[in-house]
Amino acid sequence: MSLVQTEENVASLVEQLNFKQKVDRSLSLIETAWRAHGDGLVVANSLGKDSVAVWDLAKRVSPKIRGFIVTTRFKPPETVRFMEEEVARYPELQVFRSDAAISDRLYETGPDRCCELLKVIPTRRAIETMGVTCWVTGLRCTEGRTRVDFREVEERDRDLVKLNPILLWHEREVWQYLAIRRVPVNPLYAEGYRSLGCAPCTRITTDPNERAGRWVGTSKCGGECGIHTQPLKTG
Ligand code: SF4
Repeated sequence: MSLVQTEENVASLVEQLNFKQKVDRSLSLIETAWRAHGDGLVVANSLGKDSVAVWDLAKRVSPKIRGFIVTTRFKPPETVRFMEEEVARYPELQVFRSDAAISDRLYETGPDRCCELLKVIPTRRAIETMGVTCWVTGLRCTEGRTRVDFREVEERDRDLVKLNPILLWHEREVWQYLAIRRVPVNPLYAEGYRSLGCAPCTRITTDPNERAGRWVGTSKCGGECGIHTQPLKTG
């Protein structure tokens, strides 16, 4: 399989490949990386629809593949319950969180700092603790303005490959996959959410931009928590 290298290639493949071709491509990407990295390949599972699709794809490649979940004190109760169900179903999912002291309403006054403390630092810890050499994400290039510049295989950090196996999938194709495979999803989607995060920073939106409901009213609106944009190996 030829790996996409340019923004133009990514954009054209998003439209050219059909659903089955995209699923086969995703499975092949994970399988190739699994053969190269073995136990060093780990799935980052945010418990959103994209993550559970990638987790299901990975389990089809090998039931031995491990994963990690980064949770925070601000996750909605529905997400916490869903996380507990997923961990009970898949004990190979490890949970990481931060108990760092933070100022009240830091998510309003300093959302970047809040995400750094509660999401980015625990992600770095997960990668170090689990000996990760290849982390697999549910990132998709059609999700919003901040996600057009990614590739299926990246090495932004030294000695750490990042695999984005469903980069080319549309939102509709994720739901198509989850329905066909009968994959359980976070019940908040039934309420109308399209992109899930911490409770104070996530709203239901009808905006065409899937991530428009994230960090509404802050400089970070529709943006990123930082795990896809900041270095994850600092040592
Ligand atoms: S999503 Fe909001 S509450 Fe969660 S870590 Fe980021 S700023 Fe803090």
